[in-house]
Amino acid sequence: MPHRYSLSTLRDMLRQGEISSVELTRHFLERIERFTDLNAFITVDAEGALAAADTADQAIAQGSQAPLIGLPIAHKDIFCTRGILTSCGSKILSNFISPYDATVVEHMHRDGAVLLGKTNMDEFAMGSSNETSFFGPVRNPWDRARVPGGSSGGSAAAVAARLVPAATGTDTGGSIRQPAAFCGLTGLKPSYGRVSRYGMIAFASSLDQAGPLAQSAEDAALLLASMAGFDPRDSTSMTQVTPDYEATLEMDLTGLKLGLPREFFDESVDGQVLQGVRDALTIFEQMGAQLIDVELPNSAAGIPCYYVIAPAEASSNLARFDGVRYGHRAADCEDLLALYEKTRAEGFGEEVKRRILIGTYALSAGYYDAYYLKAQKIRRIIAEDFDRAFKQCDIIAGPTAPTSAFGLGEKAEDPVAMYLNDIFTNTVNLAGLPALSLPAGFDHSGLPIGLQFIGRFMDEGRLLGAAHRYQQVTNWHQQLPEGF
Ligand code: GLN
Repeated sequence: MPHRYSLSTLRDMLRQGEISSVELTRHFLERIERFTDLNAFITVDAEGALAAADTADQAIAQGSQAPLIGLPIAHKDIFCTRGILTSCGSKILSNFISPYDATVVEHMHRDGAVLLGKTNMDEFAMGSSNETSFFGPVRNPWDRARVPGGSSGGSAAAVAARLVPAATGTDTGGSIRQPAAFCGLTGLKPSYGRVSRYGMIAFASSLDQAGPLAQSAEDAALLLASMAGFDPRDSTSMTQVTPDYEATLEMDLTGLKLGLPREFFDESVDGQVLQGVRDALTIFEQMGAQLIDVELPNSAAGIPCYYVIAPAEASSNLARFDGVRYGHRAADCEDLLALYEKTRAEGFGEEVKRRILIGTYALSAGYYDAYYLKAQKIRRIIAEDFDRAFKQCDIIAGPTAPTSAFGLGEKAEDPVAMYLNDIFTNTVNLAGLPALSLPAGFDHSGLPIGLQFIGRFMDEGRLLGAAHRYQQVTNWHQQLPEGF
Protein backbone atom coordinates (compact mmCIF):
# COMPACT_ATOMS: atom_id res chain seq x y z
CA MET A 1 0.00 0.00 0.00
CA PRO A 2 2.57 2.60 -1.07
CA HIS A 3 -0.03 5.37 -0.99
CA ARG A 4 0.03 5.16 2.79
CA TYR A 5 3.55 6.55 2.86
CA SER A 6 4.61 10.16 2.84
CA LEU A 7 6.66 11.66 0.04
CA SER A 8 9.78 11.64 2.25
CA THR A 9 9.33 7.95 3.11
CA LEU A 10 8.76 7.07 -0.53
CA ARG A 11 11.94 8.91 -1.43
CA ASP A 12 13.92 6.72 0.97
CA MET A 13 12.21 3.56 -0.29
CA LEU A 14 13.10 4.45 -3.87
CA ARG A 15 16.71 5.11 -3.00
CA GLN A 16 17.02 1.87 -1.08
CA GLY A 17 15.51 -0.06 -3.96
CA GLU A 18 12.50 -1.21 -1.92
CA ILE A 19 10.19 -0.05 -4.69
CA SER A 20 10.70 1.23 -8.22
CA SER A 21 9.37 4.45 -9.65
CA VAL A 22 7.47 2.49 -12.30
CA GLU A 23 5.71 0.41 -9.60
CA LEU A 24 4.90 3.54 -7.64
CA THR A 25 3.65 5.40 -10.70
CA ARG A 26 1.43 2.45 -11.73
CA HIS A 27 -0.02 2.27 -8.25
CA PHE A 28 -1.00 5.94 -8.16
CA LEU A 29 -2.29 5.89 -11.75
CA GLU A 30 -4.56 3.00 -10.76
CA ARG A 31 -5.85 4.98 -7.81
CA ILE A 32 -6.55 8.01 -10.01
CA GLU A 33 -8.52 5.72 -12.31
CA ARG A 34 -10.42 4.16 -9.39
CA PHE A 35 -11.47 7.45 -7.82
CA THR A 36 -12.41 9.50 -10.87
CA ASP A 37 -15.66 10.40 -9.09
CA LEU A 38 -13.69 12.99 -7.07
CA ASN A 39 -13.00 14.85 -10.34
CA ALA A 40 -9.61 15.86 -8.98
CA PHE A 41 -7.77 15.69 -12.30
CA ILE A 42 -8.37 17.52 -15.57
CA THR A 43 -5.62 15.65 -17.41
CA VAL A 44 -3.86 12.39 -16.61
CA ASP A 45 -0.69 11.67 -18.57
CA ALA A 46 -0.24 7.95 -17.92
CA GLU A 47 2.06 7.35 -20.85
CA GLY A 48 4.33 10.29 -20.11
CA ALA A 49 4.41 9.40 -16.42
CA LEU A 50 5.42 5.79 -17.02
CA ALA A 51 8.15 6.85 -19.43
CA ALA A 52 9.47 9.39 -16.90
CA ALA A 53 9.33 6.76 -14.14
CA ASP A 54 11.35 4.37 -16.27
CA THR A 55 13.98 7.06 -16.86
CA ALA A 56 14.02 7.78 -13.11
CA ASP A 57 14.56 4.10 -12.30
CA GLN A 58 17.59 4.04 -14.59
CA ALA A 59 18.95 7.18 -12.93
CA ILE A 60 18.42 5.65 -9.46
CA ALA A 61 20.26 2.51 -10.59
CA GLN A 62 23.15 4.78 -11.58
CA GLY A 63 23.16 6.35 -8.13
CA SER A 64 21.20 9.55 -8.78
CA GLN A 65 20.66 11.62 -5.63
CA ALA A 66 18.27 14.12 -7.28
CA PRO A 67 15.97 15.33 -4.49
CA LEU A 68 12.67 14.18 -6.05
CA ILE A 69 13.95 11.36 -8.20
CA GLY A 70 11.17 8.94 -9.17
CA LEU A 71 8.49 10.55 -6.98
CA PRO A 72 5.03 10.93 -8.54
CA ILE A 73 3.54 14.43 -8.27
CA ALA A 74 0.76 16.47 -9.87
CA HIS A 75 0.57 20.12 -10.89
CA LYS A 76 -2.38 22.42 -10.57
CA ASP A 77 -3.64 23.11 -14.09
CA ILE A 78 -2.52 26.74 -13.81
CA PHE A 79 1.13 25.80 -14.49
CA CYS A 80 2.15 25.65 -18.13
CA THR A 81 3.36 22.20 -19.08
CA ARG A 82 4.96 21.66 -22.47
CA GLY A 83 2.94 19.30 -24.65
CA ILE A 84 0.17 18.74 -22.10
CA LEU A 85 -3.16 20.61 -21.86
CA THR A 86 -3.01 23.67 -19.57
CA SER A 87 -6.61 24.80 -19.15
CA CYS A 88 -6.56 26.90 -15.96
CA GLY A 89 -10.00 25.40 -15.31
CA SER A 90 -11.47 27.49 -18.13
CA LYS A 91 -13.28 26.85 -21.37
CA ILE A 92 -11.26 29.60 -22.97
CA LEU A 93 -8.08 27.52 -22.55
CA SER A 94 -9.72 24.12 -22.91
CA ASN A 95 -7.65 23.44 -26.04
CA PHE A 96 -4.42 25.15 -25.02
CA ILE A 97 -1.23 23.12 -25.23
CA SER A 98 1.62 25.15 -23.84
CA PRO A 99 4.82 25.35 -25.89
CA TYR A 100 6.95 25.68 -22.73
CA ASP A 101 7.19 24.65 -19.06
CA ALA A 102 6.61 26.96 -16.08
CA THR A 103 9.69 27.41 -13.89
CA VAL A 104 8.08 25.38 -11.10
CA VAL A 105 7.44 22.55 -13.56
CA GLU A 106 10.98 22.82 -14.87
CA HIS A 107 12.50 22.74 -11.37
CA MET A 108 10.58 19.68 -10.28
CA HIS A 109 11.37 17.94 -13.54
CA ARG A 110 15.06 18.81 -13.06
CA ASP A 111 14.88 17.23 -9.59
CA GLY A 112 13.49 13.99 -10.98
CA ALA A 113 9.77 14.19 -10.13
CA VAL A 114 7.34 12.16 -12.25
CA LEU A 115 4.34 14.19 -13.41
CA LEU A 116 1.10 12.15 -13.27
CA GLY A 117 -1.19 14.89 -14.50
CA LYS A 118 -2.86 18.25 -14.01
CA THR A 119 -5.37 18.91 -11.27
CA ASN A 120 -8.76 20.56 -11.34
CA MET A 121 -9.15 24.12 -10.05
CA ASP A 122 -11.50 27.08 -9.90
CA GLU A 123 -11.53 28.90 -13.23
CA PHE A 124 -8.42 31.13 -13.35
CA ALA A 125 -8.01 30.40 -9.62
CA MET A 126 -11.04 32.52 -8.75
CA GLY A 127 -12.98 30.83 -6.01
CA SER A 128 -12.89 29.12 -2.64
CA SER A 129 -14.73 25.89 -3.45
CA ASN A 130 -13.56 24.61 -6.83
CA GLU A 131 -17.11 25.04 -8.10
CA THR A 132 -16.23 27.64 -10.75
CA SER A 133 -14.22 25.12 -12.80
CA PHE A 134 -15.36 24.60 -16.40
CA PHE A 135 -14.60 20.92 -15.76
CA GLY A 136 -17.06 20.63 -12.88
CA PRO A 137 -16.67 20.66 -9.11
CA VAL A 138 -14.21 18.54 -7.15
CA ARG A 139 -15.49 16.45 -4.25
CA ASN A 140 -13.90 16.42 -0.83
CA PRO A 141 -12.66 12.87 0.01
CA TRP A 142 -13.64 13.37 3.66
CA ASP A 143 -17.26 13.86 2.60
CA ARG A 144 -18.16 13.74 -1.07
CA ALA A 145 -21.12 16.08 -0.53
CA ARG A 146 -18.71 18.83 0.48
CA VAL A 147 -16.26 21.07 -1.35
CA PRO A 148 -12.50 20.47 -1.10
CA GLY A 149 -11.91 24.22 -0.89
CA GLY A 150 -10.43 26.29 -3.67
CA SER A 151 -8.99 27.32 -5.86
CA SER A 152 -6.41 24.49 -5.61
CA GLY A 153 -9.19 22.01 -4.81
CA GLY A 154 -8.11 19.32 -7.27
CA SER A 155 -4.58 19.18 -5.85
CA ALA A 156 -5.91 19.09 -2.28
CA ALA A 157 -8.48 16.34 -2.95
CA ALA A 158 -5.90 14.31 -4.90
CA VAL A 159 -3.36 14.41 -2.07
CA ALA A 160 -5.98 13.83 0.66
CA ALA A 161 -7.26 10.76 -1.21
CA ARG A 162 -3.65 9.72 -1.87
CA LEU A 163 -4.12 9.68 -5.63
CA VAL A 164 -0.71 11.31 -5.61
CA PRO A 165 1.72 11.77 -2.69
CA ALA A 166 1.97 15.56 -3.11
CA ALA A 167 0.98 18.32 -5.51
CA THR A 168 1.47 21.97 -6.32
CA GLY A 169 -1.00 24.78 -5.85
CA THR A 170 -1.17 28.55 -6.08
CA ASP A 171 -2.39 31.05 -3.53
CA THR A 172 -3.60 34.55 -4.39
CA GLY A 173 -5.85 35.01 -1.37
CA GLY A 174 -5.83 31.60 0.34
CA SER A 175 -6.05 29.03 -2.43
CA ILE A 176 -3.37 26.73 -1.02
CA ARG A 177 -4.12 27.15 2.69
CA GLN A 178 -7.91 26.93 2.66
CA PRO A 179 -8.06 23.69 0.60
CA ALA A 180 -5.25 22.31 2.78
CA ALA A 181 -7.42 23.06 5.83
CA PHE A 182 -10.56 21.55 4.26
CA CYS A 183 -8.75 18.38 3.20
CA GLY A 184 -6.47 17.77 6.20
CA LEU A 185 -3.18 18.68 4.51
CA THR A 186 -0.14 20.82 5.10
CA GLY A 187 -0.13 23.63 2.54
CA LEU A 188 2.35 26.47 2.30
CA LYS A 189 2.08 29.82 0.58
CA PRO A 190 5.63 31.14 0.33
CA SER A 191 6.69 34.78 0.62
CA TYR A 192 5.99 36.83 -2.48
CA GLY A 193 9.01 36.35 -4.76
CA ARG A 194 10.27 33.11 -3.20
CA VAL A 195 8.90 30.97 -6.05
CA SER A 196 8.97 32.08 -9.67
CA ARG A 197 5.65 32.97 -11.30
CA TYR A 198 7.03 32.39 -14.80
CA GLY A 199 4.65 30.13 -16.72
CA MET A 200 2.02 30.27 -14.00
CA ILE A 201 -1.10 31.72 -15.59
CA ALA A 202 -1.56 35.12 -13.98
CA PHE A 203 -4.62 35.99 -11.90
CA ALA A 204 -3.47 38.91 -9.70
CA SER A 205 0.25 39.29 -10.30
CA SER A 206 1.10 41.20 -7.11
CA LEU A 207 -0.55 38.50 -4.96
CA ASP A 208 -0.02 35.17 -6.75
CA GLN A 209 2.44 32.66 -5.29
CA ALA A 210 2.98 28.96 -5.95
CA GLY A 211 3.51 26.46 -3.16
CA PRO A 212 3.16 22.83 -2.07
CA LEU A 213 0.12 20.86 -0.90
CA ALA A 214 1.52 17.95 1.05
CA GLN A 215 0.86 15.38 3.76
CA SER A 216 3.27 16.92 6.25
CA ALA A 217 5.58 19.85 6.88
CA GLU A 218 8.50 17.56 6.09
CA ASP A 219 7.06 16.81 2.64
CA ALA A 220 6.24 20.48 2.09
CA ALA A 221 9.87 21.34 2.89
CA LEU A 222 11.09 18.85 0.32
CA LEU A 223 8.83 20.34 -2.36
CA LEU A 224 9.47 23.98 -1.53
CA ALA A 225 13.22 23.42 -1.80
CA SER A 226 12.65 22.29 -5.38
CA MET A 227 10.08 24.92 -6.35
CA ALA A 228 11.91 27.96 -4.93
CA GLY A 229 14.84 29.95 -6.23
CA PHE A 230 15.72 33.05 -8.22
CA ASP A 231 14.46 33.17 -11.76
CA PRO A 232 15.55 35.96 -14.10
CA ARG A 233 12.36 35.41 -16.11
CA ASP A 234 10.23 36.70 -13.21
CA SER A 235 11.14 40.29 -12.39
CA THR A 236 9.65 39.95 -8.88
CA SER A 237 11.66 36.83 -8.06
CA MET A 238 13.93 37.23 -5.00
CA THR A 239 17.65 36.64 -5.35
CA GLN A 240 18.17 35.06 -1.91
CA VAL A 241 19.64 31.58 -1.84
CA THR A 242 17.01 28.95 -0.99
CA PRO A 243 17.66 27.69 2.55
CA ASP A 244 17.98 23.99 3.29
CA TYR A 245 14.44 23.60 4.61
CA GLU A 246 14.87 19.98 5.60
CA ALA A 247 17.88 20.79 7.75
CA THR A 248 15.95 23.41 9.72
CA LEU A 249 12.95 21.17 10.43
CA GLU A 250 14.35 20.01 13.78
CA MET A 251 13.69 23.28 15.52
CA ASP A 252 13.64 23.99 19.24
CA LEU A 253 10.28 25.47 20.23
CA THR A 254 11.51 26.79 23.57
CA GLY A 255 10.79 30.48 23.76
CA LEU A 256 9.13 30.61 20.33
CA LYS A 257 6.56 33.39 20.51
CA LEU A 258 3.20 32.60 18.91
CA GLY A 259 1.06 35.70 18.51
CA LEU A 260 -2.70 35.22 18.63
CA PRO A 261 -4.53 38.12 16.97
CA ARG A 262 -7.69 39.01 18.83
CA GLU A 263 -9.39 39.54 15.45
CA PHE A 264 -8.84 35.86 14.48
CA PHE A 265 -10.52 34.42 17.56
CA ASP A 266 -13.92 36.07 17.52
CA GLU A 267 -17.48 34.83 17.23
CA SER A 268 -17.39 34.76 13.43
CA VAL A 269 -15.38 31.55 13.68
CA ASP A 270 -17.13 28.21 14.06
CA GLY A 271 -16.89 27.00 17.68
CA GLN A 272 -15.44 23.59 16.84
CA VAL A 273 -12.81 25.11 14.56
CA LEU A 274 -11.85 27.52 17.33
CA GLN A 275 -11.62 24.68 19.84
CA GLY A 276 -9.41 22.63 17.52
CA VAL A 277 -7.08 25.59 17.02
CA ARG A 278 -6.92 26.32 20.75
CA ASP A 279 -6.17 22.66 21.58
CA ALA A 280 -3.33 22.65 19.06
CA LEU A 281 -1.91 25.85 20.51
CA THR A 282 -1.95 24.28 23.99
CA ILE A 283 0.29 21.52 22.67
CA PHE A 284 2.72 24.15 21.37
CA GLU A 285 2.69 25.73 24.79
CA GLN A 286 3.52 22.37 26.38
CA MET A 287 6.45 22.06 23.98
CA GLY A 288 7.90 25.34 25.18
CA ALA A 289 6.28 27.98 22.97
CA GLN A 290 4.83 31.12 24.46
CA LEU A 291 1.34 32.34 23.52
CA ILE A 292 1.02 36.10 23.27
CA ASP A 293 -1.95 38.31 22.45
CA VAL A 294 -1.39 40.55 19.45
CA GLU A 295 -3.55 42.82 17.36
CA LEU A 296 -4.18 43.12 13.65
CA PRO A 297 -6.67 45.99 13.89
CA ASN A 298 -7.25 46.41 10.14
CA SER A 299 -7.98 42.76 9.37
CA ALA A 300 -11.61 43.47 8.54
CA ALA A 301 -10.49 45.70 5.67
CA GLY A 302 -8.77 42.73 4.05
CA ILE A 303 -11.75 41.41 2.11
CA PRO A 304 -12.86 44.72 0.53
CA CYS A 305 -9.26 45.67 -0.19
CA TYR A 306 -8.43 42.30 -1.77
CA TYR A 307 -11.66 42.24 -3.80
CA VAL A 308 -10.71 45.54 -5.44
CA ILE A 309 -7.03 44.82 -6.08
CA ALA A 310 -7.37 41.19 -7.22
CA PRO A 311 -10.15 41.88 -9.79
CA ALA A 312 -8.32 45.01 -11.00
CA GLU A 313 -5.19 43.02 -11.75
CA ALA A 314 -7.26 40.14 -13.14
CA SER A 315 -9.12 42.41 -15.56
CA SER A 316 -5.80 43.49 -16.99
CA ASN A 317 -4.21 40.01 -17.00
CA LEU A 318 -7.20 38.38 -18.65
CA ALA A 319 -7.32 40.91 -21.49
CA ARG A 320 -4.93 38.62 -23.38
CA PHE A 321 -7.62 35.98 -23.91
CA ASP A 322 -9.23 37.35 -27.03
CA GLY A 323 -9.58 34.39 -29.39
CA VAL A 324 -6.70 35.60 -31.54
CA ARG A 325 -3.56 34.26 -29.91
CA TYR A 326 -4.54 31.08 -28.11
CA GLY A 327 -7.41 29.05 -26.75
CA HIS A 328 -11.04 29.02 -27.70
CA ARG A 329 -12.18 31.10 -30.69
CA ALA A 330 -15.85 31.81 -31.37
CA ALA A 331 -17.14 30.80 -34.79
CA ASP A 332 -18.89 32.97 -37.36
CA CYS A 333 -17.87 36.47 -36.27
CA GLU A 334 -18.54 39.31 -38.70
CA ASP A 335 -15.61 41.48 -37.52
CA LEU A 336 -12.74 41.68 -35.01
CA LEU A 337 -14.77 43.28 -32.22
CA ALA A 338 -17.43 40.60 -32.56
CA LEU A 339 -14.69 37.97 -32.35
CA TYR A 340 -13.43 39.41 -29.05
CA GLU A 341 -16.89 39.74 -27.61
CA LYS A 342 -18.21 36.36 -28.62
CA THR A 343 -15.04 34.51 -27.68
CA ARG A 344 -14.93 36.06 -24.22
CA ALA A 345 -18.68 35.67 -23.70
CA GLU A 346 -18.45 31.98 -24.56
CA GLY A 347 -15.08 31.27 -23.01
CA PHE A 348 -15.32 32.77 -19.52
CA GLY A 349 -17.55 31.58 -16.71
CA GLU A 350 -19.74 33.73 -14.53
CA GLU A 351 -17.29 34.39 -11.68
CA VAL A 352 -14.49 35.34 -14.05
CA LYS A 353 -16.80 37.76 -15.87
CA ARG A 354 -17.87 39.25 -12.55
CA ARG A 355 -14.22 39.89 -11.61
CA ILE A 356 -13.39 41.42 -15.01
CA LEU A 357 -16.36 43.76 -14.68
CA ILE A 358 -15.50 44.81 -11.11
CA GLY A 359 -11.82 45.22 -11.96
CA THR A 360 -12.41 47.24 -15.11
CA TYR A 361 -14.82 49.47 -13.24
CA ALA A 362 -12.38 50.02 -10.33
CA LEU A 363 -9.63 51.01 -12.76
CA SER A 364 -11.69 53.29 -14.95
CA ALA A 365 -11.20 57.06 -14.99
CA GLY A 366 -13.10 58.72 -12.16
CA TYR A 367 -13.24 55.57 -10.05
CA TYR A 368 -9.54 54.80 -9.92
CA ASP A 369 -8.90 57.15 -6.98
CA ALA A 370 -12.04 56.14 -5.15
CA TYR A 371 -11.42 52.40 -5.30
CA TYR A 372 -8.08 51.22 -6.61
CA LEU A 373 -5.88 53.90 -5.05
CA LYS A 374 -7.73 53.64 -1.77
CA ALA A 375 -7.33 49.87 -1.76
CA GLN A 376 -3.58 50.29 -2.32
CA LYS A 377 -3.37 52.57 0.70
CA ILE A 378 -5.29 50.08 2.83
CA ARG A 379 -2.96 47.37 1.62
CA ARG A 380 -0.03 49.29 3.10
CA ILE A 381 -1.86 49.75 6.41
CA ILE A 382 -2.55 46.02 6.57
CA ALA A 383 1.13 45.26 5.95
CA GLU A 384 2.08 47.67 8.73
CA ASP A 385 -0.24 45.83 11.13
CA PHE A 386 1.79 42.69 10.49
CA ASP A 387 5.10 44.55 10.94
CA ARG A 388 3.95 45.75 14.35
CA ALA A 389 2.72 42.32 15.43
CA PHE A 390 6.02 40.72 14.41
CA LYS A 391 7.85 43.02 16.83
CA GLN A 392 6.09 41.06 19.59
CA CYS A 393 6.04 37.53 18.19
CA ASP A 394 7.79 35.14 15.77
CA ILE A 395 4.73 33.51 14.23
CA ILE A 396 1.10 34.62 14.05
CA ALA A 397 -1.33 31.77 14.68
CA GLY A 398 -5.06 31.32 14.19
CA PRO A 399 -7.66 29.42 12.18
CA THR A 400 -7.05 29.08 8.43
CA ALA A 401 -10.74 29.44 7.58
CA PRO A 402 -13.81 30.34 9.63
CA THR A 403 -15.44 26.92 9.12
CA SER A 404 -14.57 23.39 8.06
CA ALA A 405 -15.50 22.24 4.52
CA PHE A 406 -18.97 23.44 3.52
CA GLY A 407 -21.49 21.68 1.30
CA LEU A 408 -21.37 21.63 -2.51
CA GLY A 409 -23.72 24.33 -3.74
CA GLU A 410 -24.08 25.90 -0.30
CA LYS A 411 -22.39 29.19 -1.22
CA ALA A 412 -22.18 28.91 -4.99
CA GLU A 413 -24.98 31.42 -5.61
CA ASP A 414 -23.73 33.97 -3.08
CA PRO A 415 -20.40 35.53 -4.11
CA VAL A 416 -20.01 37.57 -0.93
CA ALA A 417 -20.51 34.51 1.32
CA MET A 418 -17.85 32.81 -0.77
CA TYR A 419 -15.44 35.77 -0.51
CA LEU A 420 -15.78 35.76 3.30
CA ASN A 421 -13.95 32.45 3.37
CA ASP A 422 -10.72 34.34 2.75
CA ILE A 423 -11.02 36.49 5.84
CA PHE A 424 -7.96 35.01 7.59
CA THR A 425 -5.90 34.31 4.49
CA ASN A 426 -5.99 37.17 2.01
CA THR A 427 -4.39 39.84 4.23
CA VAL A 428 -1.28 37.63 4.14
CA ASN A 429 -1.10 37.90 0.34
CA LEU A 430 -1.68 41.65 0.53
CA ALA A 431 1.39 41.85 2.81
CA GLY A 432 3.45 39.36 0.75
CA LEU A 433 4.16 37.14 3.78
CA PRO A 434 4.61 33.36 4.01
CA ALA A 435 1.88 31.29 5.70
CA LEU A 436 1.10 27.65 6.21
CA SER A 437 -1.98 25.63 7.11
CA LEU A 438 -1.58 22.42 9.06
CA PRO A 439 -4.12 19.85 10.27
CA ALA A 440 -5.23 20.41 13.86
CA GLY A 441 -7.84 17.71 14.42
CA PHE A 442 -11.40 17.11 13.29
CA ASP A 443 -14.81 18.57 14.05
CA HIS A 444 -17.84 16.50 15.15
CA SER A 445 -18.66 15.68 11.52
CA GLY A 446 -15.19 14.20 11.05
CA LEU A 447 -14.00 17.10 8.89
CA PRO A 448 -10.43 18.38 9.17
CA ILE A 449 -9.65 21.64 10.97
CA GLY A 450 -6.79 23.87 9.78
CA LEU A 451 -4.39 25.87 11.94
CA GLN A 452 -2.71 28.77 10.17
CA PHE A 453 0.81 30.01 10.86
CA ILE A 454 1.88 33.33 9.34
CA GLY A 455 5.57 34.22 9.29
CA ARG A 456 7.89 37.14 8.73
CA PHE A 457 8.94 37.82 5.14
CA MET A 458 11.14 34.96 3.83
CA ASP A 459 10.82 33.04 7.13
CA GLU A 460 9.23 29.88 5.66
CA GLY A 461 11.77 27.69 7.45
CA ARG A 462 10.45 28.62 10.87
CA LEU A 463 6.84 27.88 9.86
CA LEU A 464 7.84 24.47 8.52
CA GLY A 465 9.96 23.72 11.59
CA ALA A 466 7.21 24.61 14.06
CA ALA A 467 4.64 22.58 12.09
CA HIS A 468 7.04 19.65 11.93
CA ARG A 469 7.53 19.60 15.71
CA TYR A 470 3.76 19.47 16.19
CA GLN A 471 3.47 16.67 13.63
CA GLN A 472 6.04 14.64 15.56
CA VAL A 473 3.71 14.53 18.58
CA THR A 474 0.34 14.35 16.80
CA ASN A 475 -1.03 12.13 14.04
CA TRP A 476 -3.85 14.23 12.53
CA HIS A 477 -1.83 14.61 9.37
CA GLN A 478 -1.50 10.84 8.94
CA GLN A 479 -5.24 10.09 8.99
CA LEU A 480 -6.86 9.01 5.76
CA PRO A 481 -10.49 9.57 4.83
CA GLU A 482 -12.56 6.39 5.00
CA GLY A 483 -12.52 4.24 1.88
CA PHE A 484 -9.19 5.53 0.60
N1 GLN B 1 -10.83 32.82 -2.83
C1 GLN B 1 -9.98 33.84 -3.33
C2 GLN B 1 -10.49 34.35 -4.65
O1 GLN B 1 -11.44 33.83 -5.12
C3 GLN B 1 -8.57 33.37 -3.42
C4 GLN B 1 -8.25 32.64 -4.66
C5 GLN B 1 -6.81 32.28 -4.76
O2 GLN B 1 -6.08 32.33 -3.78
N2 GLN B 1 -6.40 31.94 -5.96
O3 GLN B 1 -9.96 35.25 -5.22
